[in-house]
Amino acid sequence: MQWETVIGLEIHTQLLTRSKIFSGAPTAFGAEPNTQACPVDLGMPGVLPVLNRRAVELAVRFGTAIGAEIARRSVFARKNYFYPDLPKGYQISQYELPVVGRGAVEISLEDGSTKTIGVTRAHLEEDAGKSLHEDFQGMTGIDLNRAGTPLLEIVSEPDMRSPAEAVAYARKIHQLVRYIGISDGNMQEGSFRMDANVSVRPRGQHALGTRTELKNLNSFRFLEKALAFEVERQVEVIESGGAVVQETRLYDADRDETRPMRGKEEANDYRYFPDPDLLPLEIDTAFIAAATRDLPELPDARRRRFVSQYGLKDHDAGVLTASRELADFFEEVTEVCGEARLAATWVMGDLAAALNRTALEIQGSPVDAAMLGGLLQRILDETLSGKIAKQVFEAMWAGEGTADEIIQARGLKQISDSAELEAIVDEVIAANPKQVEQFRAGKEKLLGFFVGQVMKATRGQANPKQVNALLRKRLQG
Ligand code: ADP
Ligand code: MG
Repeated sequence: MQWETVIGLEIHTQLLTRSKIFSGAPTAFGAEPNTQACPVDLGMPGVLPVLNRRAVELAVRFGTAIGAEIARRSVFARKNYFYPDLPKGYQISQYELPVVGRGAVEISLEDGSTKTIGVTRAHLEEDAGKSLHEDFQGMTGIDLNRAGTPLLEIVSEPDMRSPAEAVAYARKIHQLVRYIGISDGNMQEGSFRMDANVSVRPRGQHALGTRTELKNLNSFRFLEKALAFEVERQVEVIESGGAVVQETRLYDADRDETRPMRGKEEANDYRYFPDPDLLPLEIDTAFIAAATRDLPELPDARRRRFVSQYGLKDHDAGVLTASRELADFFEEVTEVCGEARLAATWVMGDLAAALNRTALEIQGSPVDAAMLGGLLQRILDETLSGKIAKQVFEAMWAGEGTADEIIQARGLKQISDSAELEAIVDEVIAANPKQVEQFRAGKEKLLGFFVGQVMKATRGQANPKQVNALLRKRLQG
């Protein structure tokens, strides 16, 4: 039997607001436990939630970026469940009428093709607090700082057909929320968390199989591994005559397996009803226009522009637009040096390698775009050979100054002075009469030997083009 995998993702992304979605308490990460939760977040009786305008703006930005319909009227609902870190006994979310309706994103697949993944909806809700299972004399601690932090839950259609597609989609959403500035996407701090729904069905069958839900995956690698394990497990269950049980499972990274966590709750278990403390959310055209006025050029459009404007390969344009900061950096380097392809080579090559080596993000690069552009200018005007430029780059990285300062201080200027080069070429020719004879007898390959000798004599600083020309002239003359 041939099996087909079906995956749909629910992604929770924390929105970059200063205060909570229904209270004025701060949202900053990392404060002492229970110092950033006010009576509203604590679910005290008699308090009233007030909707944070900024959270709505950020949701609208997202909806616009994925080409979705923005609901002119949406409703907050209570989702009732008990959890120790949910003191109200319900979570305020959106249910029947979410603020963002149907949209789509495009993902790039390994084979270079693209695929459209539908986004069913995205709704605003509040985050819960956090249970801390570290050692509190055998007890669990509760930190309610996170309670009430605004979340946008982004729900996809079951459009993905492999773990790799699911990762491509998740990466796309992650890229997008950071590009448009609605979330920092920090996965270590829980700002971007993924739930993966997965089922299998016989290839050719239209109806969906029974799914399981893998909760709270916080890295793309775990997402891929958890899904791969789960697909294999489901196929084994079915092939050995069993049936997949609809349930929520947890991925254990240490053992690389998923385990049941709880039976799947149905929507009616939550007793959703419109929150009587909040009016329906009404959004007009002016609000949408204001919220989206400063949306930047989106990653797909920018990637296409990099191909058409700079003549880059689509793959390279994809790498360079992975984050807004990287794309900005590349464009600034290009502007300074005037040569997009050289800029692309260096940003994806030596710069990326150095960032990787030091585990730095582009924002933290000790070599900024102006400095790298300055170095590339010295390659383009033939002050530096490519090889020496790499040395200058390393020196810039180490904080020795700009390219020009380093060239000056180290005396690295490429020798392009023809009189000076001529003298060196003549010396090399005089010192190797046997090779000169062989060359003149037709052994043209020896030109490389002579070039090497001149480079050695100049410690790599001779302009290779000029050396070649001079050698040919002198040897053939
Ligand atoms: P719930 O109410 O349990 O959250 P939804 O219908 O909202 O369920 O779906 C949640 C996610 O699960 C969506 O991303 C959806 O695409 C996905 N999904 C639903 N059914 C399946 C299935 N049979 N196999 C894989 N994914 C599914
Ligand atoms: Mg759900």
